[in-house]
Amino acid sequence: MVRHGAHTGRRRAVTPGRALAIAWETSTPTARNGFSDMSLLAADRPLNEIHDAMLLDLDGVVYIGHRAVPAAPEAVGKARAAGARVAFVTNNAGRTPARIAEHLTELGVAAAPEDVVTSAEAAARLVAEHCPAGSEVLVVGDTALRQAVRRMGLRPASVDTGAAVAVVQGYSRNMTRDLLDQGTLAVRRGAFYVASNGDATAPGEWGITPGNGSFVRVIANATGVEPVIAGKPMRPLHEEGILRTGARNPLIVGDRLDTDIEGATTHGAAGLLVLSGVATPLDVLAAPEHQRPRYLAWDLSGMNHTHPAVVREGDRTRCQGWTVTVTDGAPLLEGAGDRLDGLRALCAAVWAEGSVDPSGPTAREALSRLGW
Ligand SMILES: [Mg+2]
Repeated sequence: MVRHGAHTGRRRAVTPGRALAIAWETSTPTARNGFSDMSLLAADRPLNEIHDAMLLDLDGVVYIGHRAVPAAPEAVGKARAAGARVAFVTNNAGRTPARIAEHLTELGVAAAPEDVVTSAEAAARLVAEHCPAGSEVLVVGDTALRQAVRRMGLRPASVDTGAAVAVVQGYSRNMTRDLLDQGTLAVRRGAFYVASNGDATAPGEWGITPGNGSFVRVIANATGVEPVIAGKPMRPLHEEGILRTGARNPLIVGDRLDTDIEGATTHGAAGLLVLSGVATPLDVLAAPEHQRPRYLAWDLSGMNHTHPAVVREGDRTRCQGWTVTVTDGAPLLEGAGDRLDGLRALCAAVWAEGSVDPSGPTAREALSRLGW
């Protein structure tokens, strides 16, 4: 009788989860279609005056490993002084907000735990929205994820007793075979499956190492069930950041096209790509439509600056001192000035002209003219 009752409870929990996964999938192309004219925007006032909140990615934006990005501490202070709210939004579910805030403060970026929004918190909220308060949740992850689950009024467990109505999985340096087994058993039984993020890799001390997405594949392959993903580029994490800051018009700042900028685009928010992290100028030039930023900057200081207009006149695209002319699919870059303006002109021209191969020799020559 008890087992039957528990089974009914699990079925109730899993149904909304599956419905949610479908809702995200269908909402993405609609949001993308809304940006079919997507290109760079001009800002004649600093972005910190146009946007009421800055949702900042961390790695590659505020810090790189144990070092602050040089411009970051001053940039965060300036944005706050201009009246913008700042939240630090990270796909990393392996560290608590308190630990991340401490790390930021050590690097000269003042931060309180409530300024930090992690994918662990977004994942825990997703579970809380779909399972009754007090439900048992199997946590395939670290202390930060267990704490986030508890704060949402749920009961974290690390052994599958048959009572868990959800499984939530996040990055842990101490991931074990046993924990993956426990998660697999619960998901096979029908527990609602949520992952903090789907990043296949994570920067490690010695190079690229498996990220949460790689461990998610273990359970997904063994069960045939795909999790609902909370982290970037999916909506829940940015929604958590918007909820936290009360933002009406957030600027999403990141260094990755496939998480930060895609997340901004699918959310209908403006994305500022900084070149201080992972994405290269060639990546930006070759970005598919749904991963194209609205603003470009060298680093985080770009959120406190104005941004120049990119003007298209016939086959010519201009930005400040630079002009790009496209003839038979070949872009020709001419001019002088700030090379970021040259990149802006080149991106706008290549994005608008479907005929240009962004990885082809003429586009590469234009990039090399700019020193890339
Ligand atoms: Mg990053």
